Amino acid sequence: MKKWATGIFTSIRGGLGAGLDSVRSLGVSTVQLHAPAANYRTPERTAQMKDQFKQAGIEVTVVFAGFEDDEYTTVERVVQTVGLVPKDRRERRLKEVLEISDFARNLGVEAIGMHLGFVPPDDQDPEFRAVVEVTRKVCDHCAGNRQNFHLETGQETAQGLLHFIEAVGRPNLAVNFDPANMILYGAGNPLQALDLVGKYVKSVHCKDASYTRKPGQPWYEDAPLGQGDVGIEAFLRKLNALGYEGALTIEREYSPDQAGDLKAALSLLESLRAKVLGA
Ligand code: MG
Repeated sequence: MKKWATGIFTSIRGGLGAGLDSVRSLGVSTVQLHAPAANYRTPERTAQMKDQFKQAGIEVTVVFAGFEDDEYTTVERVVQTVGLVPKDRRERRLKEVLEISDFARNLGVEAIGMHLGFVPPDDQDPEFRAVVEVTRKVCDHCAGNRQNFHLETGQETAQGLLHFIEAVGRPNLAVNFDPANMILYGAGNPLQALDLVGKYVKSVHCKDASYTRKPGQPWYEDAPLGQGDVGIEAFLRKLNALGYEGALTIEREYSPDQAGDLKAALSLLESLRAKVLGA
């Protein structure tokens, strides 16, 4: 994979066909993939999928785990429902994450990622210890599959994330840096955050967001790339200074014109890539 290969975050529903066609039509060479439902993760279907990606010349860089009953409606519901933090869902979800790691291995993918949820900031909190333990289990299982485990940023400050990573203490624990999430969750300035956690960043979401919500705009709604407050050129310059070589994966979640926004984002990234790398 070339340095900063562009990619998009995509999902498979009801098979790979249509999803893969739209990815191919955008001309990207990498994707991050939402893990499909369990009935699409059988060995036969996984082998088929692997072959389809290969034929299309598309590399899957990270498989993301998410759950049917994750809720992103309000920040409070995120705290209660997302990731491995909610106690009542933890064991069931751990089992599924480990299965997703195996699915990713069968697909030939070297990383899985997820929103872990809101980790309690106090390391004396028994729940902090419990989330550290469950994260170790995921990391160790991933290590057996020769994979890294990427934590999506945003639901905690950079200091909080750094402290958590050090508490887990596993060499294959890494960061999927999403600068827009830091803005959306009020978790601090994304570029300053990158200074702190930069050495752990092994994948990124190119996503933008504005600090100011328009009237009626939900808290989670992102902005077209380059039109929010992240400062995409500065973000790329910082990634370059950190020696980041991975993919630039566009994530555009809420848009009336998703295809149009993806095209515009790709062309913005290609021109910034040339400007920043001088290539
Ligand atoms: Mg993201």
